[in-house]
Amino acid sequence: MQYGMWAYPWDLVDEGSESVADDLLEMGIDRLYLAANYHTVEAFCPHNPVTKTVFADAGAYFQPQHDYGEIAPVPPSTMGEDDWVATVVDDLEDSALEVNAWVVGCHNSVLGTEHEEYAITTPFGDPLAFGLCPSQPAVRDYLTRLLTEVTGRFSFGDVLLETFHYFHGSGWGWHHDKFHADIGDLGEFLLGLCFCDECRERAAADGVDVDAAQSTCQETIVRLAEGELGSEGSPSKWVADHPTVDAYASVREGTLEEFYQELNETVDADLGSFIGMLGVDTSWMHGMNLERLREHVDFFTVMSYREEAADAVEAYETAAARTDPTPVRAGVLPGHPLIHDGDSVEAHVAELKAAGPDEITFYNYGLLPERNLDWIGKAIAALED
Ligand SMILES: [Zn+2]
Repeated sequence: MQYGMWAYPWDLVDEGSESVADDLLEMGIDRLYLAANYHTVEAFCPHNPVTKTVFADAGAYFQPQHDYGEIAPVPPSTMGEDDWVATVVDDLEDSALEVNAWVVGCHNSVLGTEHEEYAITTPFGDPLAFGLCPSQPAVRDYLTRLLTEVTGRFSFGDVLLETFHYFHGSGWGWHHDKFHADIGDLGEFLLGLCFCDECRERAAADGVDVDAAQSTCQETIVRLAEGELGSEGSPSKWVADHPTVDAYASVREGTLEEFYQELNETVDADLGSFIGMLGVDTSWMHGMNLERLREHVDFFTVMSYREEAADAVEAYETAAARTDPTPVRAGVLPGHPLIHDGDSVEAHVAELKAAGPDEITFYNYGLLPERNLDWIGKAIAALED
């Protein structure tokens, strides 16, 4: 049983990587997941000695040196000429803490706005700035080269992939996005169902009536907005009643399987994928078919971020049942807005451990107050001493 911790590089750089590593090892943490490429973020950093708020545009937390094609990673201006990943990886070269990479893929509003032609495209034909579409060969080429650079240049252990898939609805939106129409989960899902040229072509090649699927999506979104359809219906049920849209959405599962297979063959590292951003059973809304993807990854990490330990265990068990025999690691958010005391952290860790993941991973070092980090240390000590 191992324990992991996600971290942003600035918290290690500002506090001193070796000192942070020593503290984490002391707490019982074996493995760090360092953000190497990330979405736009404004982070409140309660124990950072240099700054309490970091804003960074989406991009690479290293200075790219490899050749890229049409799409290339852009470091955030916040990093300037520094190379956060190189600094942390070098600092921790001799540390007992294993350093793994945590890489965000398609969710990138900098590249989504720079390359509108490759962005997720709504059924109405509008690009959504928050993300790139993984059906696009240029996007897959970019992500493959990105992983090749991350794993080739830095001595990482595993690589955990986040958002190497399609999105749900408006995704994480845009800062100050405006919705004054309640389109519910179904409308969100349909609005984010990509109808870019590549998604359309792939579905047509599979025999799907793409125009019919697209007009059904358009009409349904408008009817939801106008209150002619209830917004409370579940996307799963609606899709089951609309086989053309179901077939269109399902084509994405084959596309992602192909993409993961390519990554697995090309990238020289153990690859893992997040699951359960919306819930494990709704992974299909991201185009993820877990039974098919499990062949092509070395592990999954389920986001079992829940208030109650029993619910976190249920999320883990649902994931483990669907991905067996591929190992599943369990992610825990031991803080606001879900968990507010040390006893609850202890319950989560104890009950999850009993359920059988090979690792519990905590989110995340710089965002959690020191009090919460203490709770993690005590929870691990209570089980492992
Ligand atoms: Zn697309």
